[in-house]
Amino acid sequence: MLAQRVRRLAPSATLAVTARAEALRAQGIDVISFGAGEPDFDTPQRIKDAAIRALRAGKTKYTDAAGIPELRAAVSLALKRDRGLEYSPDQVLISVGGKHSLYNLCAVLFQAGDEVLIPSPYWVTYPEQIRLVEATPVFVPTDESTGFEVDPDRIRRALTSRTRALILNSPNNPTGAVFGVESLKALAALAVERDFWVISDECYAALSYEGPAPSIATLGPEIQARTLVVNTCSKAYAMTGWRIGYAAGPRPIVKAMADFQSQCTSNPTSIAMWAAIEALTGPQDEVATMAQEFNRRRHAIVNGLNAIPGIRCVVPKGAFYAFPNVSDLFGHRWEGQPLKSSSDVAACLLEAGRIAVVPGLDFGADHHIRLSYATSLSSIEEGLERIRRVVASLEQ
Ligand code: PLP
Repeated sequence: MLAQRVRRLAPSATLAVTARAEALRAQGIDVISFGAGEPDFDTPQRIKDAAIRALRAGKTKYTDAAGIPELRAAVSLALKRDRGLEYSPDQVLISVGGKHSLYNLCAVLFQAGDEVLIPSPYWVTYPEQIRLVEATPVFVPTDESTGFEVDPDRIRRALTSRTRALILNSPNNPTGAVFGVESLKALAALAVERDFWVISDECYAALSYEGPAPSIATLGPEIQARTLVVNTCSKAYAMTGWRIGYAAGPRPIVKAMADFQSQCTSNPTSIAMWAAIEALTGPQDEVATMAQEFNRRRHAIVNGLNAIPGIRCVVPKGAFYAFPNVSDLFGHRWEGQPLKSSSDVAACLLEAGRIAVVPGLDFGADHHIRLSYATSLSSIEEGLERIRRVVASLEQ
């Protein structure tokens, strides 16, 4: 009955965990959730006020499908200020979240027969969006021992005559890796030599704790000409529900994305776009305050996880996820059954300890689980204590 492309679509395990945790909560059970992919902070008041002003001023009509010119100009300024990137407003497309920008990109760049390289572990959405446009995701592993740094030699070995693009996500969801400038330089040279696109998903750029996360597009005009940068207001400004993201890149690609978007959704919500202008051009202090708080939690969660026998966690450099290796727990028994996978570990933590985490399998890494530390320090401490108790109770 349904088209092939949706029959193949993998349901999100992240959402499944969240749903199960919510169902337990609805029964009055106290669940500590490490599932969330969003800041626990509220959207800053100045941004809400801008939306209210826009509403009162009657900014409630259709706009240019690519986004209001004022916001495209604001993005152009913010990319220069925050990322050292030069794009004129007509090289910017505003979409309904970074996810929508990424889908638009897939739709205009890829088709059946094309291969798209994705360093693994990876954000769950990339392979699904690539498959939705009939192209093929090709996973290129990264190693825990290097902090999940992207490896240009492996990328080179994965290239074929069908390779159309490489997706880079730094800071990374789920690993927290921030790719080093040397790797990016090697990849930039490779992209120019072998002529493929680079999609640089920089949605967590504001959350990089050990120095700025470099953008590959800053490494010279040749690589900038084949890079599409994607970013969002979701994470930096705690605006996940407002759904404003954007892409910047070469004019013909941005124009094609705008045309595609004009037939699919038209413009993103007008009021949210006015709020996004305030987010990007107003005082930026909340971003730093939020990042500082995430940084405190990062240390708390990583240290706490590493103190639990059977769990080891590399220090994430960015985003708000810890991605510990739990494979030493495989073979340990819970309720008589050996744990065999990240899904077993996640199910055991939820049922035995009332702790929600996401199995690494979803991100292409079955030895790991993902914990979001976008939750209060007290919840992190309570959650760690529960994990300690569950792990201690397993039979070896
Ligand atoms: N890219 C990555 C790696 C993400 O984790 C997310 C959200 O979780 C996004 C992009 C898209 O975020 P949004 O659509 O809210 O802008």
